[in-house]
Amino acid sequence: MPQLTRSAELFEKAKQFIPGGVNSPVRAFKSVGGTPVFMEKGQGAYMTDVDGNTYIDYVGSWGPFILGSMHPKVTAALEHTLTKIGTSFGTPIEMEIEIAELLTNIVPSLDMVRMVNSGTEATMSAVRLARGYTGRDKIIKFEGCYHGHGDSFLIKAGSGALTLGTPDSPGVTKGTANDTLNAKYNDLESVRTLVNENKDNIAAVIIEPVAGNTGVIPAKREFLQGLRDLCTEEGIVLIFDEVMCGFRVALGGAQELYGITPDLTTMGKIIGGGLPVGAFGGKRELMERIAPLGDVYQAGTLSGNPLALTAGLATLKVLRDENPYPELERKASVIEEGFKDNMNKLGLNYTQNRVGSMACLFFTDKPVENHDDAVGSDLGKYSKYYQSMLDQGIYLAPSQFEAMFTSAAHSDEDIEKTIKANYVALQAAEK
Ligand code: PMP
Repeated sequence: MPQLTRSAELFEKAKQFIPGGVNSPVRAFKSVGGTPVFMEKGQGAYMTDVDGNTYIDYVGSWGPFILGSMHPKVTAALEHTLTKIGTSFGTPIEMEIEIAELLTNIVPSLDMVRMVNSGTEATMSAVRLARGYTGRDKIIKFEGCYHGHGDSFLIKAGSGALTLGTPDSPGVTKGTANDTLNAKYNDLESVRTLVNENKDNIAAVIIEPVAGNTGVIPAKREFLQGLRDLCTEEGIVLIFDEVMCGFRVALGGAQELYGITPDLTTMGKIIGGGLPVGAFGGKRELMERIAPLGDVYQAGTLSGNPLALTAGLATLKVLRDENPYPELERKASVIEEGFKDNMNKLGLNYTQNRVGSMACLFFTDKPVENHDDAVGSDLGKYSKYYQSMLDQGIYLAPSQFEAMFTSAAHSDEDIEKTIKANYVALQAAEK
């Protein structure tokens, strides 16, 4: 059992100066209980905390570390930029063209791309662009999908009817809430109904094509194809939010994996290689509406920041040149099979969802295809499972509704340890 003495001290101090002691809510361990672990150092697949405990990391900074922390090519590139180039200019730099060209080569839907500083900025800007382009106000999102903390996205449907939204957070105005409609994931009819009820007033449908913020839920192919067709017929901008699944489930993201091309794509996480980056891009006709070329305003003091682009470029080049995807698939499937064997031995039958190196073990024996299914998971069991995994040195996301990310840095030995720990933790969850 790791000692978390120093983490506990730091958490107490942090709470005096930072709301809840953290700069992003899930870090506070509210849903699993216990002390958030303050980390001191990351290397490859490992993180070491301030009390000297080392963990095998399956959070990977919430997605960016597909190559693990401090990949040598990423750190070497960063060192070069830091010592030889500079940290910011606020002018155009050549590196911006390089990453834009690379992204448009890799991601099928991109003719043009704009760099921003977070996934939230990317989704907010993409929706503004869709509204500007269509001249329509409303957007459709899906229950359980997360698109950052922009006002328009913090809305879930009132129970029952999937009609007008109510804010999830105080501070989101009724007007904004009313412009966000929630449909059911993997349920095309729920989208069709909203479109028919709001004829010619839907600017965009935004979706995580592999949902990763309500646990992991793969979209069904025919559902995504149906969305594509519906949006084309109705003049609605289809936005794939690939902030998490982009460059993760395949080099070209979910759109490459499914062979379905959205009008706009939002990106983040991996394209920053661990530094703060987001991007949105898509069809030329749409992107040409962005300022200064067009009339839809979007800007950023640090957008296209050289350090952030350096880490992103270095990561993307490794992904492109070394193609770790088959190996990621192999490792993640070994974990999945290992967990399944453990459950068989213990007479348990919990649901595992996985797309490539994004996975989730839900504490329910029912299939999980949408948010309602996901919330059927037993959170008390997840907490016990989580605590036991942590005690055994396996760092998972401190919430049932997050993904477990396997990275290129995980060794077969790490995976073996993880599967053994899972056997113990599954038993702990049942107690
Ligand atoms: N979209 C998706 C699909 C995400 O997973 C996230 C972050 N988890 C965001 C948007 C928001 O990104 P950021 O936290 O960088 O603002």
